[in-house]
Amino acid sequence: MNRVRLLAFNPVLHVLDYRVPEGMAVEPGSMVIAPLGPRQILGIVWEAERLPADEVPEQKLRALLEVLPVPPLSAPLRRLIEWTADYYCAALPSVARMALSSTAALRGGGTMTEYRLSGTEPARLTPQRLAALDALHGEQATIRDLAALASVSEGVLRGMVSAGMLEPITVDLDRPYPLPNPRHAAPKLSADQAAAATRFVAAVESGGFAPFLLDGVTGSGKTECYFEAIAAAIDAGQQVLVLLPEIALTENFLRRFEARFGVPPVLWHSSLKSTERRRAWRAIASGQARVVVGARSALFLPYARLGLVVVDEAHEVSFKQDDGVRYNARDVAVIRARFEAVPVILASATPALESLQLAEAGVYEKIDLPDRFGGAKMPTIEVVDLRVEQPERGRWLAPRLVAEMKARLERGEQSLLFLNRRGYAPLTLCRHCGYRFQCPNCTAWLVEHRLSRRMACHHCGHETPTPEVCPECHTPDCLVACGPGVERIADEVAELLPEARVALATSDTLNSPEKIGAFVASAEEGLIDVIIGTQLVTKGYHFPELTLVGVVDADLGLEGGDLRAGERTYQQVAQVAGRAGRGSKPGEVLIQTRHPEAAVIVALAAGDRDAFYAAEAEARRDAGAPPFGRWAAIIVSSEDEAEARDAARAIGGTRPQLDDVAILGPASAPMSLLRGRYRYRLLINARRSAQLQDVIRAWLGALEFPQGVRVNVDIDPYSFV
Ligand code: ADP
Ligand code: ZN
Repeated sequence: MNRVRLLAFNPVLHVLDYRVPEGMAVEPGSMVIAPLGPRQILGIVWEAERLPADEVPEQKLRALLEVLPVPPLSAPLRRLIEWTADYYCAALPSVARMALSSTAALRGGGTMTEYRLSGTEPARLTPQRLAALDALHGEQATIRDLAALASVSEGVLRGMVSAGMLEPITVDLDRPYPLPNPRHAAPKLSADQAAAATRFVAAVESGGFAPFLLDGVTGSGKTECYFEAIAAAIDAGQQVLVLLPEIALTENFLRRFEARFGVPPVLWHSSLKSTERRRAWRAIASGQARVVVGARSALFLPYARLGLVVVDEAHEVSFKQDDGVRYNARDVAVIRARFEAVPVILASATPALESLQLAEAGVYEKIDLPDRFGGAKMPTIEVVDLRVEQPERGRWLAPRLVAEMKARLERGEQSLLFLNRRGYAPLTLCRHCGYRFQCPNCTAWLVEHRLSRRMACHHCGHETPTPEVCPECHTPDCLVACGPGVERIADEVAELLPEARVALATSDTLNSPEKIGAFVASAEEGLIDVIIGTQLVTKGYHFPELTLVGVVDADLGLEGGDLRAGERTYQQVAQVAGRAGRGSKPGEVLIQTRHPEAAVIVALAAGDRDAFYAAEAEARRDAGAPPFGRWAAIIVSSEDEAEARDAARAIGGTRPQLDDVAILGPASAPMSLLRGRYRYRLLINARRSAQLQDVIRAWLGALEFPQGVRVNVDIDPYSFV
């Protein structure tokens, strides 16, 4: 073969043919450098018959320049990339890019220079150097990464290198990761756990695609069970991928993994330092990295010998990516396992309805762990009707919840208050003129953060200092906070239980692995009496002295009223309830609500998951909603309101007329302005039999839009804003 077709990372012309020069060896999946005009581009050699043809005649073909010294992307990974692009109506190069790291990593191993503080400090320091000294304590990274860490320019750091304050360290990019030892500290499993583990181990040993739904109550030891499957894969010389819904959970996972296997796993997430990223990518591609744990971006990496995929907390909506390629990592993980012909374990105490449905249909093998490990009992759950048991004026915690917290404090036990709202208050207004603080870029209120004295938009990141006077009428001291956020609950607890040691656990306070580690350690050592947290603390943690969970506002999740509101509320409350009573002492959960009669609250109080899911499933079947029917959204946006509206109308006006597809809209999106872009939505509801993606591609492919208009397709959407 001396003509090859490349998948190139070029937004306009993404399929190109080249000539392979004499003496160069390429195969499908090879990563190559090719000329394009005066530039050089990166491309992946692809099977020519699987891409649209490139018409360039033979004699006009230009020659490839270089094959990069990395293993070719495997056929299963190439099929996964194609499947993902096809299913989610995404561009092939955008999906393929997720398999790559920096171009530097593709260029080869070798060494890189990192820098760290040398301990030498001149007598006089500029403020910038002083700041860098402070920020870089204990850090070692490239100049660029250090500059970002310390928020100073690279020039400042280079000056510090010349002055001898930073010293160079040569790091070998291909130094191997330590190997996990499957027999380091194997636990004694309970009978149920052993049965589950045996099933997983057999699947790993025999190989082949085998999807499992590990459905075990909180505290049943799901992690211990899939650790046995990981041990089997390590024994077989294979690699394992463990996906977690958010990086906040990895710290805890790392410690448990290290306790079990003697060394930490290899981490992959978006904020890795560039040297670590290169090292991890290369070790994944060579097969040297044996167990990789990461957020969803770890899913498309080029594992050399993948033997098992685990998705923990598989019900979590954060597996759904809502920008760039809009894919669901839980679903794509199963597809990856299918193409690689390996087992995949979806673990959860509150599986998604979609997953349960697939288990019921016999597609997934369901493995149950109905009891907590070590005889711990499930917590008792009671409902606090806020209309009857009213908190004091201006407060949010009902007297019964406060009394239970007091009792815990006296017994030296811990309480956890859950409220999924960062900051002090979700809305701030002026008592004098009624002015409300709104984000200039989004259809959203600004949230007051008292700890950082800022008003912040949680959608676009816009921030302003909290003003002293109303920006509209200039009256001083007239701003009122409406509703509670976690910071406000913390104030209330400080007033009610002044001697309690309180910790706020949100993405604002636990924003680095160090801070998360410190929080977990102090909770475990009993240095915290009351944890007040957002969804960040609903899962993964195991604090034996935690015996009371208070759900401050169970109605919050039901307000938006989207398809999964009931299910999501059930999952969130059941998960946070699952933090209580995991040790030898029994746990108690109090759910504050104004709608004690709502189906989800009744089900939570009765601990009747099956009945709740059955009712949910029935409602979805009637509505033709997933998993019984299919949904897709089209989101049209532009910085120009009229342009967005016109484009949305043009799409609506050419809607296909089909029996098995209903198209709603276009309508102005609930979040009609987001990050400065005006938004319209169409919702498509299709029968399972419909060729949904083909319909959408044909429909949108026939239209042209002005430059400033973005048209995004969201298959199996989770967000309806
Ligand atoms: P889940 O993920 O199902 O909520 P975990 O895996 O976190 O449960 O287990 C709950 C706690 O019980 C953890 O502290 C775990 O280490 C412990 N545990 C579970 N199974 C065993 C076992 N077989 N031997 C020792 N400890 C166990
Ligand atoms: Zn905003």
